[in-house]
Amino acid sequence: MIQMENITKHYPGRRGEKPLQILTGVDLHIRRGEYAAIVGPSGSGKSTLMHLLGCLDTPSGGTYRLDGADVSGLDRKALCRIRQEKIGFVFQGYQLLKKLNALENVALPLMLRGVPLRRREAMAMDALSRVGLAARARHLPGQLSGGQQQRVAMARALCCSPALLLCDEPTGALDQTSRDEILTLLEGLNQSGHTIVVITHDPCVAAHALKRYRVEGGRVRPAD
Ligand code: ADP
Ligand code: MG
Repeated sequence: MIQMENITKHYPGRRGEKPLQILTGVDLHIRRGEYAAIVGPSGSGKSTLMHLLGCLDTPSGGTYRLDGADVSGLDRKALCRIRQEKIGFVFQGYQLLKKLNALENVALPLMLRGVPLRRREAMAMDALSRVGLAARARHLPGQLSGGQQQRVAMARALCCSPALLLCDEPTGALDQTSRDEILTLLEGLNQSGHTIVVITHDPCVAAHALKRYRVEGGRVRPAD
């Protein structure tokens, strides 16, 4: 699913300063159906790596093949298409729209793709059922707990059946009970065939994944 070879990423330095070398040679191979956690100290480049994995940004060097296709040199428009086709995102802060109910939030990416109303409501309802929230479909985000909001965000990520689910600190804002609910969900999704990559600070979350990798010193190594 993911084949990164010697990926580098630098950000331009401030005026007159050297560029910031964040990733200096990342080799990362994640197979289809894998459930991987990526850990590492704050500032080590985890989110930078996630942005590259998610085709939200392009590497400075190296090759990235996603699902068999080389995406390292694609332009913004082509990257956008790849994201729509293949990737679901879950972030720490849920990123739900406050004035839309759960069903509308989940259906939003489908609307942006031109899926007709009835069809997208059925697909969104199906995704909400998969995260155990069919009964909350008409609730606004403010009427849901943090854990429930994150499950809505997961339903939104899932409604387009992405081959790859990328989660950046998905449980970072949750209490232990809600965290465990999300972990159970991720496990079920992985068992039903989704490839999952979770970026996390939390050793419990990392322990849940089937494989662990550590970002450190600009590189990625298997951790354990
Ligand atoms: P992590 O997620 O592991 O905490 P990040 O990938 O967010 O780390 O950041 C790694 C380093 O890159 C940090 O020093 C951060 O300040 C820097 N950085 C991140 N994004 C940018 C950017 N767009 N421009 C310049 N520097 C950045
Ligand atoms: Mg980060």
